[in-house]
Amino acid sequence: MASIREQFPILKTQVNGKPLVYLDNAASTQKPTRVVNAIAQYYNTSHSNVHRGVHSLSQKATQLFEEAREAVRNYLNAESSDQIIFTKGCTDAINTVASGYERLLKKGDEVLISHLEHHSNIVPWQMACERSGASLKIIPMNHKGELEWSASLLSPRTKMVAVNHVSNALGTINPIQQIIADAHAVSAAVLIDGAQATPHFAIDVQALDADFYTFSGHKVYGPTGVGVLYGKRALLEKLPPYQGGGDMIKTVTFSKTTYAPIPFKFEAGTPNMAGAIGLHEALNFMSEIGLEAIASHENRLLLYATEELSRIPGIRFIGTAENKASVLSFLVEGAHPYDVGVLLDQMGIAVRTGHHCTQPIMDYFEIPGTVRASFGIYNTMEEVDQLVRGVMRSASMLV
Ligand code: PLP
Repeated sequence: MASIREQFPILKTQVNGKPLVYLDNAASTQKPTRVVNAIAQYYNTSHSNVHRGVHSLSQKATQLFEEAREAVRNYLNAESSDQIIFTKGCTDAINTVASGYERLLKKGDEVLISHLEHHSNIVPWQMACERSGASLKIIPMNHKGELEWSASLLSPRTKMVAVNHVSNALGTINPIQQIIADAHAVSAAVLIDGAQATPHFAIDVQALDADFYTFSGHKVYGPTGVGVLYGKRALLEKLPPYQGGGDMIKTVTFSKTTYAPIPFKFEAGTPNMAGAIGLHEALNFMSEIGLEAIASHENRLLLYATEELSRIPGIRFIGTAENKASVLSFLVEGAHPYDVGVLLDQMGIAVRTGHHCTQPIMDYFEIPGTVRASFGIYNTMEEVDQLVRGVMRSASMLV
């Protein structure tokens, strides 16, 4: 643990005069020095524009960028690296698919999303449905924050099922394997929003049989501004491009444009090479630690934090699913989550408060928001103890 923490200089800093306890990993993770160095090294030694240069630097930049694509392919166990599209982030990846489907969907078709989605897996589908005339249907959830999945929610009209692998607000791990199998039985495609799964456990898109899988670089210890869309080849080839511009074309005349093959059809303009290279390094960092080791460490933190916080009078957990990743949402009775967050910040403890871009979940529980502590590779049991002491102190001041 000491050697892992050593790689994150920010963890040695102070906030409000107190050593930082960073428990906002579901929003964004901190970056190890090797990721920052990989980006600096790229700009210092290898930068040029990719894909269209004969000169050596352009070829070097292209090689590094394409090596990053191959690293993502390997990380997701995708069939082929041309099924890996670099995007600005998870939101951009979902919009890429939704805007393509907007043109494929027809009136009478249905898109099924869940009550547990982040706004970025709600709004793009609402827009696609509004513009195409398709209907948006919702998979309900129960009071534990688990999806009430039933294959009867599907019909031959269902063309797309878009759900997250792990809920960012509650930590629920969703039964995506069952959802994918049931959706395929009615020939619906499935998009899995993996933003909160990829930081915590290994993903095998082939074993899952996911049609699309998306995630963000900045949540897996990589840089901001880069994300990934994986898709099955036949679906990506059928999907209309999201944006037009350079690099995504085969031929352009004023009367007609033909598109480049995948993945380039979806990567209009100069891509974020530095971001992809930083992401490559971040994936190496996680793989070297081992995804199983990460999952079991974070699970210990989650269980310990749940147990210790539950001793505090007036604590109420929001999201008590049987199957959870390392996200803990809670309220202190009689205290507004925002006030708890401000007091914790005074103690150097960074948690997130609010609706976590999941307003329908907050509406379900009839609450304005929660306090959310989310754990990462570098968090420790001592930090959980600090959180618990901090919440106790906040409660004694506010209630
Ligand atoms: N989906 C989930 C489940 C998330 O938690 C997030 C971000 O918090 C996103 C999508 C959007 O990710 P980004 O803002 O990096 O595009």
